[in-house]
Amino acid sequence: MKHNFNAGPSILPQQAIDATIEALKDFNNTGLSIAEISHRSAGWDEAMDECNFLWKELLEIPDGYEVLLLHGGASQQFLMLPYNLLQTKAAYLDTGVWAKKAIEAARYFGEVQVIASGKESNYSVVPKYTIPSDVDYFHFTSNNTIFGTEIRTDPDSPVNMVADMSSDILSRPVDVSKYAMIYGGAQKNAGTAGLAFVIIREDVLGKVSRDIPAFFDYKIHIKNKSMYNTPPVIPIFMMKETLKWLKSIGGVTEIAKRNKTKADCLYSEIDRNPVFKGTAAVENRSIMNVCFVLDEKYAGKENDFMELSKKYGLVGIKGHRSVGGFRASLYNALSLQSVEALVDCMKEFEKIIG
Ligand SMILES: *Cc1c(COP(=O)(O)O)cnc(C)c1O
Repeated sequence: MKHNFNAGPSILPQQAIDATIEALKDFNNTGLSIAEISHRSAGWDEAMDECNFLWKELLEIPDGYEVLLLHGGASQQFLMLPYNLLQTKAAYLDTGVWAKKAIEAARYFGEVQVIASGKESNYSVVPKYTIPSDVDYFHFTSNNTIFGTEIRTDPDSPVNMVADMSSDILSRPVDVSKYAMIYGGAQKNAGTAGLAFVIIREDVLGKVSRDIPAFFDYKIHIKNKSMYNTPPVIPIFMMKETLKWLKSIGGVTEIAKRNKTKADCLYSEIDRNPVFKGTAAVENRSIMNVCFVLDEKYAGKENDFMELSKKYGLVGIKGHRSVGGFRASLYNALSLQSVEALVDCMKEFEKIIG
């Protein structure tokens, strides 16, 4: 058995994989594969609507918001957001690699005020910040996939608030009404790559003076129900099945409890085991991406741990190259048993070299 700790694309519920295999063979009893039908064919509209409905149900999205499923991943949203919402100035919080990419993208469209940065701590801390009231919007990254820090409560903002929730969407309840927009790539908790989700309050649109080409205009995508051009049907189908699974186990309230149990299990081992130490500030630790390194005393032994981890069937625990060490991603579909396998491996490693 493999324990999949990949950071993204990452583990998916088995039933979402199985349902997608079925649809690849025979979509909706049409005798045709989902890969070879038109998105205008019978059955597809229902699939699309169901996916949308599940988003609204799971996150209790209030009236006035639309859910869009678009090509291009979160990275395209780094550009589409300022294209549609940035008139003169926006405030961004710099909490790591993805936040910086969002900042760089926004600079093409207007002034970007970086209100605080975690750079000095190599992003191990989420810096304290104050949101200015003279900006078009405030943007932050709720979970820093690479550095393992997270902002887990929805901030209060005097201006429109936007969050990149690529790697912790659907991991816990979110108060959507506090946000003008929430977006992310699908390939962590919401499905597989090739797709971004955008949850947007319609009344924030149409306020900038620039011309927006149709393909980059949220209003056009809303009008066309995310089918302005050919949608990536396979990733959307997989997303729908992933959301269905989440609903079947009790939704975001239940998964938040399970995610907390998994994270507590791993962080307590990191804190107990003298061979390892966590890299993120304790108060900012992510429940999705757990980053840790070997204690200095054991520097250079990383490959020994990677070797041992193979015996336990652990996959994807190498840290991002900018942090080093290890990273275990505990996304929704990962079971507590997998976390326990990692903890057992850490205990055995302690016996061997500790
Ligand atoms: C993975 C990730 C992205 C990038 O997503 P793409 O879909 O590859 O563009 C952006 N932000 C965060 C927080 C991520 O974890």
